Amino acid sequence: LARVLSGVQPTGALHLGNYLGALVKFTRLQHETETFIFVADMHAITQWQDPKLLKSQVREIAAAYLASGLDPKVATIFPQSAVTAHAELAWIFNCVARLGWLDRMTQFKEKSGKHKERASVGLYTYPVLQAADILLYKATQVPVGEDQRQHLELTRDIAAKFNHDYEVPGFFPLPEALTQGPGARIMSLRDGSAKMSKSDPSDYSRINLTDDADAIVQKIKKARTDPEPLPETMDELKARPEANNLVGIYAALDGRTSEAVLAEFAGQGFGSFKPKLADLAVAKLGSVGEAMRGYMSDPAEIDRILDAGAARAREVAAPILAEVKQIVGFWG
Ligand code: ATP
Ligand code: MG
Repeated sequence: LARVLSGVQPTGALHLGNYLGALVKFTRLQHETETFIFVADMHAITQWQDPKLLKSQVREIAAAYLASGLDPKVATIFPQSAVTAHAELAWIFNCVARLGWLDRMTQFKEKSGKHKERASVGLYTYPVLQAADILLYKATQVPVGEDQRQHLELTRDIAAKFNHDYEVPGFFPLPEALTQGPGARIMSLRDGSAKMSKSDPSDYSRINLTDDADAIVQKIKKARTDPEPLPETMDELKARPEANNLVGIYAALDGRTSEAVLAEFAGQGFGSFKPKLADLAVAKLGSVGEAMRGYMSDPAEIDRILDAGAARAREVAAPILAEVKQIVGFWG
């Protein structure tokens, strides 16, 4: 039986990459199978978060979920830290995962930067907590952006090693990353080689879900490009990361392939392509931003949804964690 689980960190403004790479997929999948979507506040504090702001950041992510069409009557929406079983299972998995596996994780290398000795231990072991998030519900499918593919491989390795070492074949499923789709890796508007990120210091690197029409138009206008017109072939396009990204964004927003978009716009310069992309982005994102602001105006309602989701998540997680503890030989 399929079960879907995914989450987003409350680390700042949600952007187009989160929307196309994750939120849109959550909304589609909720009607196909049992779906758990959490707000990853435990992951967020792997890098400093102001405690006075964290709860409202959690509410903002929840508002974005609701605005993009997640229905709390259909999907279970909850804050990660409200279900303490995530932390308990993560500890056990810390003892299953190998240092050598974590040493290969590219996201840690990118996020820890030049001074990795100053990074939190949590940032290093973050993919282990992620494995716990998923396997605590025995989820089988994880809709995420392309950047999370390596972490999903690690989750599978942890599941397989647990099943093997404790001689419980098939106890944990080996979950699958759902990264398909044209929006799986949206790049920064300032740098075609870096992914669009919440934590990028430049607001011009991303289109936020809460940006108004003027901001969207300005950001697309200022997006880095080259002076050449759009090429005829995908091979030529792929050799130009910034152009490829803008065509990819157009395609993802319009539910088409990059090939189809290129067929329409080949030969046009960015002077004419960018305004069309901006119109499309405003048309598609404007209503999401507006719905988000609507939900944000009633935080008590968001809290009710999150509390109910947490109660439901705890119910599903408790028997699985209890079984894990028994398998490991723990006391309680
Ligand atoms: P941070 O910089 O704090 O890590 P983020 O933008 O990477 O923020 P996350 O909360 O880490 O966002 O990721 C939430 C989801 O959005 C994940 O499924 C991730 O794969 C997806 N995602 C993040 N960035 C992109 C992107 N540029 N394109 C497509 N999907 C993305
Ligand atoms: Mg990220």
